[in-house]
Amino acid sequence: MNKYDIIIVGGGAAGMMAASRASKRHKRVLLIERNKRLGTKILITGKGRCNITNDCDIEELLNQTCRNKHFMYSAYYTFSNTAIMEYFENQGLVLKTERGKRVFPQSDRASDVRDILRADIERSGVTILYNAMVKNLLVDEEQVEGVITESGQKLLASSVILACGGQSYKLTGSDGNGYMLAKQVGHKIVEPKASLTGVYTKESWTEKAMGVTMKNVKVIATYKNKKLYEEIGEMLFTHFGLSGPLILTASRYFLDTGYEHAKIILDVKPGLSEEKLYKRICRDFDESPKKQYDNALRKLVPANMVIPMIMLTGINGEKQVNQISKEERRKLVDTLKNMTFIITGGRGFKEAIITAGGVSTKEINPSTMESKKVKGLYFAGEMIDVDAFTGGFNLTIAFSTGYLAGDQA
Ligand SMILES: Cc1cc2nc3c(=O)[nH]c(=O)nc-3n(C[C@H](O)[C@H](O)[C@H](O)COP(=O)(O)OP(=O)(O)OC[C@H]3O[C@@H](n4cnc5c(N)ncnc54)[C@H](O)[C@@H]3O)c2cc1C
Repeated sequence: MNKYDIIIVGGGAAGMMAASRASKRHKRVLLIERNKRLGTKILITGKGRCNITNDCDIEELLNQTCRNKHFMYSAYYTFSNTAIMEYFENQGLVLKTERGKRVFPQSDRASDVRDILRADIERSGVTILYNAMVKNLLVDEEQVEGVITESGQKLLASSVILACGGQSYKLTGSDGNGYMLAKQVGHKIVEPKASLTGVYTKESWTEKAMGVTMKNVKVIATYKNKKLYEEIGEMLFTHFGLSGPLILTASRYFLDTGYEHAKIILDVKPGLSEEKLYKRICRDFDESPKKQYDNALRKLVPANMVIPMIMLTGINGEKQVNQISKEERRKLVDTLKNMTFIITGGRGFKEAIITAGGVSTKEINPSTMESKKVKGLYFAGEMIDVDAFTGGFNLTIAFSTGYLAGDQA
């Protein structure tokens, strides 16, 4: 029977980085992936462009890590965002940095990121077993001894790294089964929750504005009228409610409080105070007094927002703007500055960018990623109870913890 030094379960970002590091230490490494290819999830990251990491300082990496940030200290310092960039550049991938210090491949192709990782581990002599799903861990007297696959194959190793991912976008292969493997050997799983999702709104009119992207708007997320989050950027109206970058981030704040009593307030004109906006509108109306309200709105909002705006302000779209009263103008200003949505829930795992929750960090040594319960068992990536906001921070977690596990196993 084949015996390896290290078996890695899961060929995603974390598993491949772990394999890369372990193979450089001249270990005999077996990487097991249930799919017929590696890194399926990487291919869909960053809308197919893969936001690999973020070019910020480590303090900011920690700030952008939502839960158990202190657990990530060693991993970030051992294999930082800078080290991640160097790794890819040394393998010949040209990188570029965009708004918010987000780092992408110059090619805008996520497949380049996956291909580089795969080529690296193939070159380093890692054995890859495709189409094999690990069903059980072999453990004797609190020491890991290997794994058993679905087809009953026993594979032995003195170290096993679990890098099975979370449970969002199940079709990519990460369906939460990794939590079961950890649970089998006594690990506590912090309830997995769908994070970084679009949100459902009570207001069904968003359907009319479906597909409209609002840029340079301010999103304020509140819980019981207390502000949780405020940011200027981009959001999107959808058939179910709201989505887009700012909303995904806002949804992470609702995860800890619950969606009940949750609201999103949208300021469509954050650059202008209410008074300035009122004056601007009055001036525009004075310049073209005979213009119809629906036409005047086109100067203020995207075309698909005109009908919702007519509904929200209660002003007849055919009314000439010189007929619009002071109160109605104030109502228009208030709608633009405080467009309020009652949030009824998040979109769930099918569309979640990330799973919050997972293997409890209390039972993992943060300096090595080794289990405190089973000797020789290590964890890496999204299956650990650590998650972050958007901006390349989640792949950073995967690469950093993957490297550390591969270094220490
Ligand atoms: C649409 C979308 C866009 C995203 N964009 C970004 C982005 O631009 N930047 C960013 O930082 N993050 C992004 N993320 C998050 C990022 O993709 C994840 O954080 C990261 O892929 C996690 O890596 P991982 O290796 O831990 O898990 P995964 O990538 O999920 O890999 C786990 C692997 O394990 C395999 N597996 C599972 N169980 C078993 C088993 N029992 N036996 C064998 N194999 C198994 C799976 O098939 C899978 O290949 C995005 C996520 C989504 C869904």
